Amino acid sequence: MANRIPRVAVREQDPKVRATNFEEVCYGYNREEAMLEASRCLHCKNPRCVGACPVNVNIPEFIAKVAEGDVDAAAAIIAQDSSLPAVCGRVCPQETQCEGSCVLGVKGEPVAIGKLERFVADETLAKASATVAPSNGIKVAVVGSGPAGLACASDLAKWGYDVTIFEALHKAGGVLEYGIPEFRLPKDNVLKHEIAKVRALGVKIETDVIIGKTVTIDHLMDEEGFKAVFIGSGAGLPKFMNIPGENLCGVFSANEFLTRNNLMKAWREDYLTPIHAGKKVCVVGGGNVAMDAARTALRLGAEVHIVYRRTEAELPARKEEVHHAIEEGIIFDMLTNPVEVIGDEKGWVKALKCIRMELGEPDESGRRSPVPVEGSEFEIETETVIMALGTSPNPMISRSTAGLETNRRGCLVADEQGATTRPGVFAGGDAVTGAATVILAMGAGRTAAKAIDKYLKG
Ligand code: FAD
Ligand code: SF4
Repeated sequence: MANRIPRVAVREQDPKVRATNFEEVCYGYNREEAMLEASRCLHCKNPRCVGACPVNVNIPEFIAKVAEGDVDAAAAIIAQDSSLPAVCGRVCPQETQCEGSCVLGVKGEPVAIGKLERFVADETLAKASATVAPSNGIKVAVVGSGPAGLACASDLAKWGYDVTIFEALHKAGGVLEYGIPEFRLPKDNVLKHEIAKVRALGVKIETDVIIGKTVTIDHLMDEEGFKAVFIGSGAGLPKFMNIPGENLCGVFSANEFLTRNNLMKAWREDYLTPIHAGKKVCVVGGGNVAMDAARTALRLGAEVHIVYRRTEAELPARKEEVHHAIEEGIIFDMLTNPVEVIGDEKGWVKALKCIRMELGEPDESGRRSPVPVEGSEFEIETETVIMALGTSPNPMISRSTAGLETNRRGCLVADEQGATTRPGVFAGGDAVTGAATVILAMGAGRTAAKAIDKYLKG
């Protein structure tokens, strides 16, 4: 009977209203809705959802507790495997992971695992979540306070290690703080609490410390008594197209645009951080980052175009994000590729010159590759161009640390356990894989924590 109940819809802010504010789009489940949705789970003997979760949260067990109304017990089950459930419940690509494997999805709609995780996390945000072993006095340094660093630090602290995270920015959280906008992941109401829980485990976070500039990994290990280091420094170096006009005023990388807005709070009237959107904005790219930049520019009052060289079917962004962007009024210019940014006499952007594309033969990724249609150039008038074309790891750490190898994409070389080519130094998350997802970064952080524990125990 349970699976005959349709998936419980989640309430959201009206698209016309939310397009003008930075409040959260999705309201999440209330207790009644969560318990009803939880009652749909079949508690499979071999739950495929668990295997499809990169940190192997015991999904049927926590869902059973939600169905019984015991939210604290559900939170304790999740906390065994995930240190950031309120974040993951909001931003994980569940449709390709746990929910993508849920048996109910074969003929109907999968259990809303992400929304249930979010419900449990939100209900228990202010409560302590894990026990900590007595201190063993062994110092471990973690570089970067994104999901990889936070997950690694949490596990090591739970096992009694003396962990310090060194973060280059003035606030902890990595992309969760500076990249993902407020309307998808509220900072004060959600992220701040999740980071407070990591600190509550005894993890120290030193902000404004750039490893490779303020201090090096060699110094931390040779002079400051750190016995191992985990590098979770992400992939924050933006890519550009290398077309004429990219250095005009009004051309941003998505990283800069989002950092000004999210970390430096340019959207708030009580902050003085400058940001330039203007009346019309073109965002180049089709991933999550492009959607976030576009929806941010829309909320700053601009008409926004997504310029993408393939079709909607190939958009790499999460379906939910594309759907939200369309609902809010973002205009999608598909099969379109920029060839030049055109400026006015004062050096500001005034148009984006593009060429029409068509899909040709599949490339090595299996997707049909876009081919320019000869003679089809045209101009889109615009005041701002935001490049959301992907990112790669910043080379500062690999260049300043003896014995650390990188591959041809600039990513740190590490084995499956996260061990790099330098003994005692481990790495994981975007710094190793290139730009990926929050949960994969967390999974890598946890795997490396185990390897560090093993390494330090000899
Ligand atoms: P990061 O989150 O990048 O954290 C790295 C941290 O290291 C940063 O705080 C950085 O300041 C710090 N650092 C870097 N160099 C140094 C140094 N030398 N010294 C000290 N500190 C340093 N994933 C999803 O799953 N779902 C989404 O919806 C989603 N949306 C996204 C939207 C945007 C705009 C972006 C940019 C990414 C998005 N991602 C999403 C991807 C996801 O956020 C990343 O894969 C994830 O954050 C990687 O985690 P990380 O810990 O490896 O690195
Ligand atoms: Fe429940 Fe779906 Fe997981 Fe089965 S696969 S245990 S139905 S969430």
